[in-house]
Amino acid sequence: MSELVIEGLRATVGGTEILTGIDLTVRSGEVHAVMGPNGAGKSTLSHVLMGRPGYEVTSGTATLDGIDLLGLPAWERAQAGLFLVMQYPTEVPGVSLIDSLSASFAASGRPTDDMRARMVDEAERIGFDEKFLDRPLNVDLSGGEKKRNETLQLSVLEPRFAILDELDSGLDIDALRACSARVEAATETGLGVLCITHYTRVLAELRADRVHILVRGEIRASGGPELADRLEAEGYTAWIRPEDEMAPSAPRPVDVFGEGSFADQQPVVEDPFGPGPFAAG
Ligand code: ADP
Ligand code: MG
Repeated sequence: MSELVIEGLRATVGGTEILTGIDLTVRSGEVHAVMGPNGAGKSTLSHVLMGRPGYEVTSGTATLDGIDLLGLPAWERAQAGLFLVMQYPTEVPGVSLIDSLSASFAASGRPTDDMRARMVDEAERIGFDEKFLDRPLNVDLSGGEKKRNETLQLSVLEPRFAILDELDSGLDIDALRACSARVEAATETGLGVLCITHYTRVLAELRADRVHILVRGEIRASGGPELADRLEAEGYTAWIRPEDEMAPSAPRPVDVFGEGSFADQQPVVEDPFGPGPFAAG
């Protein structure tokens, strides 16, 4: 039994506090959903946990079986058993999927002899074309193909915990079913999942155990799958407070005049890695 434990996690980006105290525990085989309005901090949570540069953790902890994740570079977090399906998977020209996964295996001392067979097998399971194994990672792939690619990496690497940041965005219905069935099968053998989504469909496929509502960087409600159904019917109104609209991380107001009059309110932080391999969205 493994445990991903997040306690009192607060984080800033560009001097603005986005996560204002997150407590969450995911155990082996469990599927926890994180749902919340645009700009609530869902992707920030995924980036902070995986170790994307540019975020500052101001307090709190995140541990995987007692290992302090926050003190490790991203690759060591991956070796500790954490995997992130990115909301916007990064294109990596010059590196093929098979080279990338072979390097991951080699780095953790796992044998790579049957790598291709393993990958072909997994690609077939989720309807991902074999030709992508040798093409540069994510380059010129459609949104749906990128999410299949992420799912394939997850199934081959066999992490202990996976954060899915909107796995369902960009996937058509058949692809969503195939990818979520694959992740669900992995939960049967112990994978713990933190599934960020706006929709109940993927939660039904994954058979979510718990649903958390994230607003303004904090979890305002937790419950069973019925909480997602309520959300789908009623929206977020019950969990949004008047002061949220004023908060720096509140969703941007629509600029009805189209003159960029709100543009100056958007804090901008440069990703120190630029649009390179770590510039995930
Ligand atoms: P979600 O995934 O819930 O839609 P995000 O975590 O992407 O939200 O963003 C939360 C808030 O943090 C938003 O208001 C967003 O504008 C802000 N934010 C995210 N990344 C940066 C950044 N690099 N610099 C400044 N603000 C950021
Ligand atoms: Mg997001």
